[in-house]
Amino acid sequence: MPRPIQATIHTEALRHNLARARQSQPDARVWAVVKANAYGHGIEHAFEGLRAADGFALLNLDEAQRVRALGWRGPILLLEGVFEQRDLELCSRLDLWHVVHCNEQIDMLATHKTHVPHRVFLKMNSGMNRLGFMPQRFRAAWTRLNALPQVDEISFMTHFSDADGPKGVAAQLATFNSVTQDLPGERSLSNSAATLRYPLVGTAPANERVASDWLRPGIVLYGSSPDFPDHSATDWGLQPAMTLSSKLIATQDLAVGDTVGYGSNYTAQQPMRIGVVACGYADGYMRASAGNNEHGTPVLVNGVRTRTVGRVSMDMITVDLTPVPDAGFGSEVTLWGQSSSGVVLPIDEVAAAGGTVGYELMCALAPRVPVVVAD
Ligand SMILES: *Cc1c(COP(=O)(O)O)cnc(C)c1O
Repeated sequence: MPRPIQATIHTEALRHNLARARQSQPDARVWAVVKANAYGHGIEHAFEGLRAADGFALLNLDEAQRVRALGWRGPILLLEGVFEQRDLELCSRLDLWHVVHCNEQIDMLATHKTHVPHRVFLKMNSGMNRLGFMPQRFRAAWTRLNALPQVDEISFMTHFSDADGPKGVAAQLATFNSVTQDLPGERSLSNSAATLRYPLVGTAPANERVASDWLRPGIVLYGSSPDFPDHSATDWGLQPAMTLSSKLIATQDLAVGDTVGYGSNYTAQQPMRIGVVACGYADGYMRASAGNNEHGTPVLVNGVRTRTVGRVSMDMITVDLTPVPDAGFGSEVTLWGQSSSGVVLPIDEVAAAGGTVGYELMCALAPRVPVVVAD
């Protein structure tokens, strides 16, 4: 029998979450962002649930090849564009659209030999200061690109730094709009947080209503909230697309004063039973997750909510069985996602107990964890 840990990808949840993202601007097209191997879900595993998207956005050329290998003939966008000259050959061959964020990428295009001109997304650095042309350089970049025979339609794009927080999008939106106002082409602005918090339909003030021809949701597709704890996944009507589950492989009875695990991080204050779960940091469970006497990390045993005690080790974690007295060897453990009885443990709560975000947990799912795709 294999070690009992397993990740389940919920196809119906992916479908539901994609539809939820669309609601914020029903006339826009949607890039399903599947970078980082579909945020740890596996491109091949997530594809069926996301195939109603209008395109797939990602970073690696090998991921683009994998999406084409699945039979996808629609748009694919390289979110960081090409990294070297010969990447453009693959763009020509596989009909990949690509972001252009710097002059070096325009230089490469200018010397690229192709019969079919490329569709590109010209990126503005409107305040994030990672990728893109500064607003005052943007029009010059557009003019240069527009003159190239290698380039077909040019679209415009920027990325928000604070769509999930109090600073919001207004300043970056104003910058982007003022520079691109009279340029012809489609626009792509909203990530998940902007898609949900600044929908085109609704009551937001005009300077915060973000109109995109192409939305770019990532994390919402996978059922994690982009602005937790402001809003939970349930607040946004999202369903978990990944369940990480395992089983108890042992139990221990502790007396007062007994300690648990490496570093004796947790000390029993009363007689108690604990369970040992086949899941550790080598499976992608964060070692930084809380598990001392003050704070634990939430976990479900037989669908009942309890907490971790002691440090996360490579292959095991330990959990308090006080609320689940009937649990024993082989009992179901849900690390995040949905128990077989239908109880949901949001990945965002588990992440928060480790000082991180749902994004990092799902992306960190380790290769040794078997994945099954469910309906
Ligand atoms: C990752 C990424 C997104 C998606 O971000 P989420 O917060 O997951 O919705 C959108 N646009 C770009 C450029 C990205 O790199």
